[in-house]
Amino acid sequence: MKAPAAAVVQELVLANHILHAQGVVDGFGHVSRRHPDNASHFLLSRSRAPALVEAADIGVYDLEGRPLAQVNGAPYLERFIHSEIYRARPDVMAIVHSHSASVIPFGVTGQRLRPIFHMAGFLGSGSAHFEIRDAVGDSDLLVSTPALGRALATSLGACSCALMRGHGSTVVGHSLQQAVFRAVYTEVNARMQATAMALGPVTYLSPNEAERAATANDGQIGRTWALWAHALKQTPGQGCSG
Ligand SMILES: [Zn+2]
Repeated sequence: MKAPAAAVVQELVLANHILHAQGVVDGFGHVSRRHPDNASHFLLSRSRAPALVEAADIGVYDLEGRPLAQVNGAPYLERFIHSEIYRARPDVMAIVHSHSASVIPFGVTGQRLRPIFHMAGFLGSGSAHFEIRDAVGDSDLLVSTPALGRALATSLGACSCALMRGHGSTVVGHSLQQAVFRAVYTEVNARMQATAMALGPVTYLSPNEAERAATANDGQIGRTWALWAHALKQTPGQGCSG
């Protein structure tokens, strides 16, 4: 196993801290990235609140969800979300799983998230829906086995976002920064969409508008990443560790 470069690990640490500061994750939720030198491996923290993640917490896992080296503590129970989506989607380079609050009402009502404004163009024609009950019956709702990870990956299909009924959501990207961008704006879109739906019929972006907006946004992702990283440095106790 080739060890990932320090900068690759550090960017993942920063992603953990940004997602917490932006209200996407709390004590739970996680973010991973595919190993840049080996598509069959990915990087993920040990089981720890994202805001507290440090470089020493980041481990390398294979697509069975097994840690390849000594992990400095217990792994996340739901690491199979990551392993099975990386297996099913060669285009995916990073994944964010969260329980962000504004998304949950959509998952439990079967309402799709749809792009209500241009920043959420990545939602395309709408989010995917994962019903864990279809895969395993009554459960603790956690994606804690490879089989459940595969079921989630199947529900995700080619989408960028899957809502998980009674649990949260999983968002994928072609880069770490894009996955973080999408996770933040999934939460923002959910908040705004719920408000708009209460007011009356909503005009969403058309699939063509969504695609064009998403392409335009992809050229601007570094701007929000720089802002969110900068904001961490301004907030005592939230600075990244290096
Ligand atoms: Zn979860």
